[in-house]
Amino acid sequence: MNSRADIQGVGMTSARTRARLIARLRSQGITDETVLEVMQAVPRHLFVDEALSHRAYEDSALPIGFNQTISQPYTVARMTELLLEDNRPSRVLEIGTGCGYQAAVLSALVDQVFTIERISGLADNARRTFSDLGVTNVIQRHNDGANGWSERGPFDGMLITASPHQVPPALFAQLNEGGRMILPLETDDGQYLTRVTRLQGEMSVDTIEPAKFVPLLGGSG
Ligand code: SAH
Repeated sequence: MNSRADIQGVGMTSARTRARLIARLRSQGITDETVLEVMQAVPRHLFVDEALSHRAYEDSALPIGFNQTISQPYTVARMTELLLEDNRPSRVLEIGTGCGYQAAVLSALVDQVFTIERISGLADNARRTFSDLGVTNVIQRHNDGANGWSERGPFDGMLITASPHQVPPALFAQLNEGGRMILPLETDDGQYLTRVTRLQGEMSVDTIEPAKFVPLLGGSG
């Protein structure tokens, strides 16, 4: 068997599979072409366990170890699109690095991504993947993300990829005027993707659509 042909074969399959993912995201209502382009380019299969890499371009959440999941591509696309709408932030804080896929997508669209993860094994795996991919503008920290990262703040935008019951006050305090935070907020009626904008120091809150994220937990493991 010719290994070169094999590699090319895999590459072509995955290019087709990725194109299908992008078509599906479009049909689900994602319209930001730059977000779609980046999601076509970022190799999602390198962020999941090798045994699951053949499922990496399905629109589903997949396990990444430590009882956590990589978010569904639709969710990554939607949150990124909401963050970038109207105005492109330069420095973005992400809470919940997980496998690093969302941070890698963001890294192609903004100047710097700061990302915090409470599980050290996940943070280590993500660090390796960023290095393998040559991603150099993602700055990581292992900590409880609900406290934010005051030494590196304030930030123009924030993506919270685990669900709190309220907007964490320390995070809002580190958001620049006009900046926005996209988060899955847990309410009495269920969890909703929510956009919080800082306007004259006050919170302006828009509820977007239902969401399904793991809870934002306290402490770091
Ligand atoms: N953005 C990730 C998906 C995140 S899943 C990706 O692209 O893969 C949610 C992540 O949030 C998990 O890894 C979980 O460990 C982390 N998390 C939960 N509570 C946290 C907290 N308080 N601080 C930092 N990370 C947290």
